[in-house]
Amino acid sequence: MIKLRLILGDQLNLEHSWFQENDDNTIYVLAEMRQETDYVKHHIQKVVAFFLSMRNFHTAIQALGHQAVYFKITDAENPQDLEKIIAVCIEKYKIEKFEYQLPDEYRLDQQLKTICSNLKIELEAFDTEHFYTTRHELSDFFEGKKLLLMENFYRNMRKKHHVLMDGSTPLGNQWNFDADNRKKYKGEVPVPSEKNFHINVSKIINQIEEAGIITFGNIDEHNFSWPTSRQQSLEVLDYFCTNLLKHFGDYEDAMHTDEKFLFHSRLSFAMNSKMLSPKEVIETVIAFYHANETEITLSQVEGFVRQILGWREYIRGIYWKEMPHYAQMNVLKNDNKLPNFFWTGKTKMNCMNHAINQSLDEAYAHHIQRLMVIGNFTLLTQINPDEVDAWYLGVYIDAIEWVEMPNTRGMSQYADGGIIATKPYVSSGSYINKMSNNCSKCHYNVKEKFGEKACPFNTLYWNFLDEKKEYFKGNQRMGMMLNLLNKLNPEELYKIKVKANAIIQNMDSY
Ligand code: FAD
Ligand code: SF4
Repeated sequence: MIKLRLILGDQLNLEHSWFQENDDNTIYVLAEMRQETDYVKHHIQKVVAFFLSMRNFHTAIQALGHQAVYFKITDAENPQDLEKIIAVCIEKYKIEKFEYQLPDEYRLDQQLKTICSNLKIELEAFDTEHFYTTRHELSDFFEGKKLLLMENFYRNMRKKHHVLMDGSTPLGNQWNFDADNRKKYKGEVPVPSEKNFHINVSKIINQIEEAGIITFGNIDEHNFSWPTSRQQSLEVLDYFCTNLLKHFGDYEDAMHTDEKFLFHSRLSFAMNSKMLSPKEVIETVIAFYHANETEITLSQVEGFVRQILGWREYIRGIYWKEMPHYAQMNVLKNDNKLPNFFWTGKTKMNCMNHAINQSLDEAYAHHIQRLMVIGNFTLLTQINPDEVDAWYLGVYIDAIEWVEMPNTRGMSQYADGGIIATKPYVSSGSYINKMSNNCSKCHYNVKEKFGEKACPFNTLYWNFLDEKKEYFKGNQRMGMMLNLLNKLNPEELYKIKVKANAIIQNMDSY
């Protein structure tokens, strides 16, 4: 029976059982498609990274002896649409059975279901063999529970998969080292420069331009730094273990104007495209830790494992539990427009300036920049979560909807009404001042709430609490914030609100 096997751009799993045996009657298909480049405006580095990784994957499976067809974005015969590509292949190769791996995005899942319902040949869907959990495992775990606490899910994952466990107790008798992992970075230890593959990507950029794809952001065409093959992904993992792991936990939440990546792994693209599996990342990191326990502490390793075994799997489970209605949620009814400086980086707020420009230059910002600087600003200015989602989905190298949306719309914008976060991640400038060196070099004064030089985060924070106090009045975790709001002098609050309104009306001037 002649089979066609579809490989989507984020299904580059060379270890998948599909590739462990050769079969002359199986044809694989990979396609660069306008339907995937155009559903949102993407950062140029994101498009380059996906296309290059797909091309490398095609070469790799051919080298293993598999038959594979590839549609480049500029190929004249490329129909640029998944349904048509499958139809062309079925016709051309006289395909009798169509097989695919379950997509991680709802959009593609629906599209493939529709395509399959119209096909008159045999069909079969396979697991991607990537995640620890199945699509609906989180829903089953929280069945009947009101609160979907990540911590409970994470502890269960540790036990179930025997990760950092000593029998039934957590290694070091502690599940969580979060309290140790909140240091500000003051240059105490040097940050090794990021692993860079110096790939020349000018040819692929020309093809993207020739195809007429509209992208944004910057790229150094001679020094593309992201891993685009399994081998390079393994090198990034090795680099992380050898150079960065020993300080990962300590500076996990820190920000510094001179250090874009600090001790973060930069592994998200390699994992989200499935060039690396979360299991091999965790196992490699833990093995490295055990071989180097005199140099590396458990808190660094636990901090890292929590992100992947905990957050990453949890976020995926929430996506499949809550879609498709999740994509429309906007409980705070936020409806403002994203300011233009998100596309240009031109703002006087030093923290935003650094975080946005870094995102435009590198297609990367780390977790706290995404959550407590950029996301904090968009929530305080009450931007419509659709706009926020579209920006995050376009700008980051690792942004695929299943992981981007629950993080952005849920954790960061509280648009899901607290499914993920028990209270909104909002803060005044004082948090940014505590965790970074941004404020000392800023045009604004982090100590002021209103007035010409007041830090916009301060003004916007009190205004946000005042505007949303009715919504949050029953939320116990908001009690302290709302009490402090009540204690503000009414005249002061009035001035804050006038100023906040002026900022929201004219964000690009700040
Ligand atoms: P490290 O800090 O080294 O962490 C290691 C790994 O842990 C990451 O590679 C990632 O796979 C995983 N991880 C950590 N936090 C999370 C999380 N909250 N959710 C899922 N996985 C996590 N991550 C994405 O992969 N794609 C996104 O589109 C994305 N959007 C985000 C949007 C917002 C508003 C926020 C707050 C976070 C978002 N994250 C997203 C999570 C996190 O910011 C990135 O995974 C991380 O910055 C990637 O860099 P790194 O590989 O250096 O991570
Ligand atoms: Fe950001 Fe305010 Fe600090 Fe400036 S003073 S860097 S705007 S938090």
